[in-house]
Order: sequence, then C-alpha cells, then structure tokens
Amino acid sequence: MKRFGETYSVLLLDLDRFKEINDTFGHGGGDEFLIQAASRLRISVREVDFVTRISGDEFAIILSCAGGSETVADIAERVQRAFAIPFHIQERSIQGSVSIGIAMLPNDGVDAEAILQRADEALYAAKREQRGTYRFCDIRDDEKIAYRNLLLRELKRAIAHESFHLEFQPTMGVDSGLTTGFEALIRWQHPELGLVNASDFVPLAEEAGLIHEIGEWVIRKAIDEAATWPDHLRVAINVSAAQFRTLEIAGIIERCIGKTDISADRIEIEVTESMILADIERASDVLTKLRQIGVRVALDDFGKGYSSLVHLIRLPIDRIKIDQFFVSQVETSEECKKMVRAMVRLARELRIDVTAEGVENETQLNFLKAIGCGEAQGFFISRPIKDVRNSGLTTSCFPVARQRAA
Ligand code: C2E
Ligand code: MG
Ligand code: MG
Repeated sequence: MKRFGETYSVLLLDLDRFKEINDTFGHGGGDEFLIQAASRLRISVREVDFVTRISGDEFAIILSCAGGSETVADIAERVQRAFAIPFHIQERSIQGSVSIGIAMLPNDGVDAEAILQRADEALYAAKREQRGTYRFCDIRDDEKIAYRNLLLRELKRAIAHESFHLEFQPTMGVDSGLTTGFEALIRWQHPELGLVNASDFVPLAEEAGLIHEIGEWVIRKAIDEAATWPDHLRVAINVSAAQFRTLEIAGIIERCIGKTDISADRIEIEVTESMILADIERASDVLTKLRQIGVRVALDDFGKGYSSLVHLIRLPIDRIKIDQFFVSQVETSEECKKMVRAMVRLARELRIDVTAEGVENETQLNFLKAIGCGEAQGFFISRPIKDVRNSGLTTSCFPVARQRAA
C-alpha cells in the first residue's frame, strides 16, 4: 500500500440509515440510495482519490497526499455536506447521513490491514458518539479498545457459562409507601472484574449482537422469579432495541408466561423512545401484540430521548418512567421541576401511569408526593437487591416507611 515517501489517508464510511431505507423502500430503493450515495462521494473528492464500496453500506475513500491546504478534515466535511442534501428515492425525499472513520499512513500504521483496522475503530467511535460525524483514529484509544475486546471475549464466555444474575429494584407507591413491583436489572459477576453493572455491558452486548441470548435469559428468569412473589407485585423487564425489532419477543414472553401461572398483567416490558423511533411500524406491531397477550408496556427514561409525544397517544403505552436526570435536578433547577410536574400532569391527563426514576433523597420524594406522581424508584427507596422474597420489601418499601413512622 505504501509507496516510499507518500502519505495516504483512509476514510471508512458507513451510510447511517441504509438498513432502514432498505426496509422501507425494498432492495430497489436501497440500490437507488447506494448509487446516489456513491456519486456524491465521487464528486466530493478529487480525480486522484480513490472511492470504493467495501460491503453493503460501507465505502472507503483513499486520499493520496492529502494535507496542506486541503486537509483530510475538509474533505470529510465536504462529504458530509454532500449528504446533507436530501436524497430522492421513489419520489420521496429522504434525509441521509454518513459516519466516517479516518486513519492516516504512515502515522497510524504502515500496512493495509493495520490502517483499515484503525479506520474501522475510528468509524466505530464516530458512530458511537454521534452518527453523521467523522473521527480520526486516536492512538490513545488503544487502551479502551483493548478493554472493550477483553470485555467482549469475556462476555461470550459468560453467556456460555450463564454467569449472570438478576437484581431487583422495587417501585413504591408515593402516597402509600407500599411496594408495587420490582424491576429486573441484569448483573454480571466476573471473577476478576467483579460485579459488572448493566450499563457497562448491555450496550456492548447490543453492538456485538449478543443481546438476543442474554435478553431471552432475562425474560425467562424474571418471569420465573416473579411467579414466586405475592400476586400484587409486578415485574418490570428491560428489553433492548435489537430484541424489540423482532416480533419474536412477544412469542418468547408468551411462552415464558405459559410455563408459570403468573397473570400477564403483572409483567411490564420497559422500552425506550429511541427503540420506538427506530422503526415505528415494527414497534407498533410488537406493542400491539404485547397488549393482546395482556402484558403492560412502560416507556423508560422518558424525556431523555426525542419525546415524540404523539407516541403516547398512538401506541399502547401503560406507563412512563421519568428519566432520573430530571429527578436529580429538581432541587437545583426550576426548569426541571416544571418538567417533572408537566410530565406527571401529562400522564394523568392521558390516564397513563407514571414512575419517577432515580429518587435519591427525601426532598425529591416529597416533591413527587406534592405533585401527585404515582410511583417512585431509586436508591433512597431501595438499591437493587438479590432476594426479593426474603427482603422484607414485598409489602412496603421498608426504609422509607420506617422513616415516615419515625
Ligand atoms: P434503567 O432501566 O433506566 O435502569 C435504571 C438504572 O439506574 C439501573 O442501572 C439502576 O441500578 C440505576 N439506578 C436506580 N436507582 C438509582 C438512583 O437513585 N440513582 C442512580 N444514580 N442510579 C439509580 P443499571 O442496572 O446499571 O442499568 C442500566 C441500564 O441498563 C438500565 O437503565 C437498562 O436500560 C439497561 N438494563 C438493565 N438490565 C437490563 C436487562 O436485563 N436487559 C436489557 N436489555 N437492558 C437492561
Ligand atoms: Mg428500566
Ligand atoms: Mg430508566
């Protein structure tokens, strides 16, 4: 790849919404999009540069001797500007964008394989940070990447050995202090890394396509466990976008319910707004199927994403869970206070249940009580626990109830 004394830059590009476009317009539409994308790439670079398609929606550009006045960053920006103009597919106007990872030769490596690997890592970082942006590979990322690869290897092993367990965090009726249910949160007990929280490995499992197996295990375990609890307690189960994309999830839940004598309305599936937005049609089908089975649906981390309120009307949603960000700010920010109050009111008007997440102190709980928020959850009420039946929390959320009695 390297000719003596020359510098090259490799740009790896990923078309951000290709899968969605393919699903929406069929392969004919997908092909049209690719052709238009390729020609935009071609016109964004110089005659001497080389553009090629690597796989489905991945392209590469090799810039020779880029530098000086026309920097690599300028060219990456030019490509992204070219994508900012809407595409016309089957007489419809579509917004496209492209994520770009950049590695330079010789600084980032001297052989083709190493350079491509570095560009790929940079592309991964760009997509992770914000789609539609570009990123240069960063040698300092090495450590992070090594850790990620280690985690990934270990995660695969953990799946084979089922080294996971569930913890359960209660939800409490704000007025009554009574426990209304528990949310299942996955944990990974690793011999050297210790107890790994969901937030540290669920996103990785999602990216690596490992979430289906893990997710199915969570559903099975959570339902089996909840079937042994008193009948008034719900179990909330988080599902990932990838699980949610298949209609299969409703079947899995239905089969798990069938194996126990738990009533379906004791199960609440937690989804996020971004999952719904990723594919509204599919989301609507899955949610409708869940409703038919009798399972409830909660919108998790409400307010953090796009908060497209129309979904609250159009989709069968039974509960919103106000994101902990808002709750954590109610003491310091008037705006957040107003937001929480408005979200509680909105839920009430729409006859949707509401839970405030991440309650960490009494002031926050008192505020929620004053504005009529139905349920609350958070470290102040209880941290996630392992053993629900012997926790003393199946009737009331003990620490809070005790404080009130004192
Ligand atoms: P989430 O569903 O919004 O869960 C709440 C997260 O906030 C949990 O972290 C919980 O331990 C933490 N938390 C609860 N109360 C408080 C509080 O008062 N203060 C603070 N600072 N944090 C609090 P965790 O267990 O690390 O889970 C993170 C996310 O990972 C969850 O967010 C959920 O989206 C996902 N997740 C957890 N378990 C599963 C699972 O079994 N499957 C899938 N697909 N995702 C899961
Ligand atoms: Mg949740
Ligand atoms: Mg949440």
